[in-house]
Amino acid sequence: RPLTSNDLIEEHRICVCVRARPLNKKEQSLKDLDVITIPSKDVVMVHEPKQKVDLTRYLENQTFRFDYAFDENSTNEMVYRFTAQPLVETIFERGMATCFAYGQTGSGKTHTMGGDFSGKNQDCSKGIYALSARDVFLMLKKPVYKKMDLQVFATFFEIYSGKVFDLLNRKAKLRVLEDGKQQVQVVGLQERDVKCTEDVLKLIEMGNSCRTSGQTSANAHSSRSHAVFQIILRRRGKMHGKFSLIDLAGNERGADTSSADRQTRLEGAEINKSLLALKECIRALGRNKPHTPFRASKLTQVLRDSFIGENSRTCMIATISPGMASCENTLNTLRYANRVKEF
Ligand code: ADP
Ligand code: MG
Repeated sequence: RPLTSNDLIEEHRICVCVRARPLNKKEQSLKDLDVITIPSKDVVMVHEPKQKVDLTRYLENQTFRFDYAFDENSTNEMVYRFTAQPLVETIFERGMATCFAYGQTGSGKTHTMGGDFSGKNQDCSKGIYALSARDVFLMLKKPVYKKMDLQVFATFFEIYSGKVFDLLNRKAKLRVLEDGKQQVQVVGLQERDVKCTEDVLKLIEMGNSCRTSGQTSANAHSSRSHAVFQIILRRRGKMHGKFSLIDLAGNERGADTSSADRQTRLEGAEINKSLLALKECIRALGRNKPHTPFRASKLTQVLRDSFIGENSRTCMIATISPGMASCENTLNTLRYANRVKEF
């Protein structure tokens, strides 16, 4: 049964969902098996092929339940409607919102958040960054918000190996400062004035090309960095609301801690640390716990003000690859996402 507006959960402070992509051409050509089924709108099953000691084969079935489960036929627009779209309202109500794409490299994080970059014609207009921006400008047209005189700004930066780089300013390396009032500031981060969705699309394109420029392999780099895209509402210069949309580093990179290469090991340890800290921060938000361990990583530190406060909401989209070859990573992703919603 397709999801309808009746299925929309409005009251959630934390929403955790899963999205499976279709088997790709390469997996099909390698005759990889699809081990995922999504039998209902909030259940995902993994059918892991196993072998007994006497070599008889069997499938071990594991079931997970989330707020929503999106199968391979779901579109970005549909995923958006149940995840990020409800958070657009939050920032108009003076709230802070975050939306994360979490999963293995190649599972569809960038496709979900940034849009379709597979072909020659890179199209970022269908990603959750752009869809959110579109709705922010639609909301601004409503009389109640129109008369509030709100201005929209956007930032786009990357966290790589615990360091922050501005994707809207030729990857300038930025410092993160915490002042006496525990406010966290990314010093010098470009906040671009945006007037319409088109303006935002240009910034996304610019940031994306900046993200991958000078890299021998675009995917190898982006799999090790977190990309943070923010839409900020200001009223008379003061922050009114902020929406942070994050395309996280590939979670399998957190296991690079035993790599022979020192740099890879260090980057792996940093990713591992930040993903663990993220999980704890979201869980603390769910528990309304006053002590959020945001200092444990750069990622959670720069998102500090989004994890505290009365009106903070978050959403995690766990993306999974359907192939048998990805089974172990898929199960890791689902277990992590499961923990996020247990507070
Ligand atoms: P990640 O950012 O998690 O490493 P990508 O978003 O780059 O993964 O996705 C890997 C490949 O799979 C890309 O070619 C992308 O276009 C394709 N893909 C991802 N999700 C989907 C989907 N839901 N439907 C169709 N293709 C997808
Ligand atoms: Mg990616």
